[in-house]
Amino acid sequence: MTIIIALDIGGTQIRAAAFRRGSTTPETVQRTPTRGEGTAFERMCALIQSIWPEHGAVEKIVVALPGPLNPETGVIFSAPNIAGWENFPIGPELEKRFGVPARIGNDANLAALGEWRFGVAQGHHHVLYLTISTGIGGGVISDDRLLLGFRGLAGEVGHVTVLPDGPLCGCGQRGHLETLAAGPAIARYVQEQIKGGATSSLQGKKKITAREVSEAASQGDVLAIQALERAGTYIGQALASYLHLFNPSIVIFGGGVSFSGNLLLGPVKAALEKHVMDKSYLKDLVIANAALGDDAGLMGALALGLLPDKPDN
Ligand code: ADP
Repeated sequence: MTIIIALDIGGTQIRAAAFRRGSTTPETVQRTPTRGEGTAFERMCALIQSIWPEHGAVEKIVVALPGPLNPETGVIFSAPNIAGWENFPIGPELEKRFGVPARIGNDANLAALGEWRFGVAQGHHHVLYLTISTGIGGGVISDDRLLLGFRGLAGEVGHVTVLPDGPLCGCGQRGHLETLAAGPAIARYVQEQIKGGATSSLQGKKKITAREVSEAASQGDVLAIQALERAGTYIGQALASYLHLFNPSIVIFGGGVSFSGNLLLGPVKAALEKHVMDKSYLKDLVIANAALGDDAGLMGALALGLLPDKPDN
């Protein structure tokens, strides 16, 4: 019996699960805060140790990580909110520590892989996954292969310019989709409009979240509806370009903001129809919500662990 150990490293917590090969139900799951005593790497190693099986051999360790990385070399280039993970060779370090092969993947890329193998995209060969949360990330599966690019950096669907000279993005560039349509952008827009004199049920709140905007919109708040429309329109415009590039048969929406449902997806679809260059891109296109939810990272890591090591998928 062989075991795959899957980890999902988030900004707030690290989760680890041990899966028996052939099973999608973990034998054990453990979690720990990302920040605390010791380095994030040490905390991660302690977690792996805590779920290491007494019986059976660990085949490999697979880690979903929140940052740009090279899956070939196992080096993470940077991880927002995790100190010391600049050009950190996390894969080789894990191999040294535990003596088994270790593989890493970007968490949004792996969520795409997870949805393809275990979730809503099963049976599809061309998949586009978008997560709309604190940031916007995603993954592309083309012909049943995860698109990685030259250095493993492909699939950054949140970092395309939709408004030249627009607001500054967390990455340092201007007018990227993420800075116009992710959760914080939706909340910021409502806050700015209220400051400018717009009326809303969210007036008087010190801090507004996208979740609150979504709740207010579902109660009919005009400004909140408008904020989701604005974000959805930007997403739909970008999505038209993604369809032209990748021609997927399914587009999956994940991340907290996707819980806004049709308040967001309605404007997405309207903008998509307006901007797509030929209706054949939309024919039989499935637009679906992610099925794996919070487990996307872990299940994506498992999906990566189940792929043969070569070809380099
Ligand atoms: P993370 O970015 O840490 O992965 P999430 O995917 O939950 O976490 O995304 C967080 C963003 O999603 C926040 O901007 C939050 O306000 C928003 N959000 C969370 N739940 C909902 C909801 N039910 N409806 C709309 N937005 C939500």
